[in-house]
Amino acid sequence: MTKGTEAGIPKKAVGWAASDTSGVYAPFHFTRRANGEKDVTIKILFCGICHSDLHTAKNDWGFTTYPVVTGHEIVGEVTEVGGKVGKFAVGDKVGVGCLVGSCRSCESCKVDAENYCPKPIFTYNSPDVDGTRTQGGYSDIVVVDEHFVVRIPQGLPLDAAAPLLCAGITVYSPLKYFGLAEPGLHVGVVGLGGLGHVAVKFAKAFGAKVTVISTSPAKKQEAVDRLGADSFLVSRDPEQLKEATGSMDGIIDTVSAEHPLLPLLGLLKSHGKIIMVGAPEKPLQLPVFPLLAGRKTVAGSCIGGMKETQEMLDFAAKHGIKADIEVIPIDYVNTAMERLAKADVRYRFVIDIANTLKA
Ligand SMILES: [Zn+2]
Ligand SMILES: [Zn+2]
Repeated sequence: MTKGTEAGIPKKAVGWAASDTSGVYAPFHFTRRANGEKDVTIKILFCGICHSDLHTAKNDWGFTTYPVVTGHEIVGEVTEVGGKVGKFAVGDKVGVGCLVGSCRSCESCKVDAENYCPKPIFTYNSPDVDGTRTQGGYSDIVVVDEHFVVRIPQGLPLDAAAPLLCAGITVYSPLKYFGLAEPGLHVGVVGLGGLGHVAVKFAKAFGAKVTVISTSPAKKQEAVDRLGADSFLVSRDPEQLKEATGSMDGIIDTVSAEHPLLPLLGLLKSHGKIIMVGAPEKPLQLPVFPLLAGRKTVAGSCIGGMKETQEMLDFAAKHGIKADIEVIPIDYVNTAMERLAKADVRYRFVIDIANTLKA
């Protein structure tokens, strides 16, 4: 055991875990590894509820090991640092997203893209370095290697910053990587949920003209008035689609339900790109003729590396970007999951861990 030897014994922790495919959460006592020399221990203050938490709790993807404490949008305060920790001190406000480990030596890790490492350690439901399983942020404390911890910049509210650690970086990274973070571009955002609403905010802050594309006309006012989108397109309205043909430089597609790509391809200019960040369970149909005709790209993207996650938070603080949240107590989590399944939240639940999770 290389970790956990410095301070000795594992740490007692309490959280809320799902124990079977019902996905129902209940209080759960477990241990965290002892704080190793490169580790920080974090007292968790807030944790966002991501759609992945729901899928994992119900074993929708088939690889859940129970009991599982989900939650990978963690904000908290450092309470202990190992002897070789350089970045953080006790009292710092910090965040942990989807990743708590990677190999640190592969091609992806070497270029700060730990999120594409073939040996990632996810924040929950993953084998950890000490042979135990990782457990997420619906809990009182977490012990994490400092490399996978980011600083919450001054000025970002701690509760509304939490969803940026998964939803925020998931949309920020592709906007940057695919060249859509330049002023004056026209960016489409498909779907107005946890991911989509922050995609609108980041794209606007980069200086884009932003069009929200949704199946639901009722979301127009919300998209334009509250989130600051420039225009709104009902994806089932052929007239509106026709009018917007060939007008967009790129589209961030956040929808994880089955949906047709053909209308979206039609919205792109030549050389335009659709970047998928939602994860539909079944394969989508890819019409190839429209791809060829405009040399268009359909791509995917998954969270971001640690350096870029810090950059995203700093950018969010500078531009006043935060998630729109509903703060809830931990004992509301099962109701929150039912509401999340019906998309009945604007736009992210965040659990007030520090004030409502009791040992
Ligand atoms: Zn997530
Ligand atoms: Zn690696």
